[in-house]
Amino acid sequence: MTEKQRSFMKMAIDLSRSGMDQGKGGPFGCVIVKNDQVIGIGSNSVLATNDPTAHAEVVAIRDACKNLDHFQLEGCEVYTSCEPCPMCLGAIYWARPSKVFYANDKNDAAEAGFDDQFIYEEIEMTDSERRIPFQQMMKEEAKTVFEEWITKQNKTLY
Ligand SMILES: [Zn+2]
Repeated sequence: MTEKQRSFMKMAIDLSRSGMDQGKGGPFGCVIVKNDQVIGIGSNSVLATNDPTAHAEVVAIRDACKNLDHFQLEGCEVYTSCEPCPMCLGAIYWARPSKVFYANDKNDAAEAGFDDQFIYEEIEMTDSERRIPFQQMMKEEAKTVFEEWITKQNKTLY
């Protein structure tokens, strides 16, 4: 761990505290770095924006992608004050940074009242077993759009 990397994580931890102190949301902060430059920052903003998806990592990914004017974070490092929840884990994989550093882990988060273990358990369940029931419908109609995508010319793959 270099001093520079420690300074980026310190920034993420500072964002977790300032977001909490400002009442923006829970105590989570995230910094995204490319070539030793900060290109995106975020703190949990669920309360301030009435957005349940405004976790620190998602806010930082949106900020970084906007600044890069690109939909992927190739060659970037993510510094997050806490191990990502399943939603943010998914968002990170879609964004494709090169590495993720985290400080608190999910057990620390659970002790602070942010337990995301149930989401991992829900993933394993069938549609009808889930706490929020899922039901498939109108597959044939929806699938025609996929078929159009498959044959579509000049599409941007991501
Ligand atoms: Zn999250």
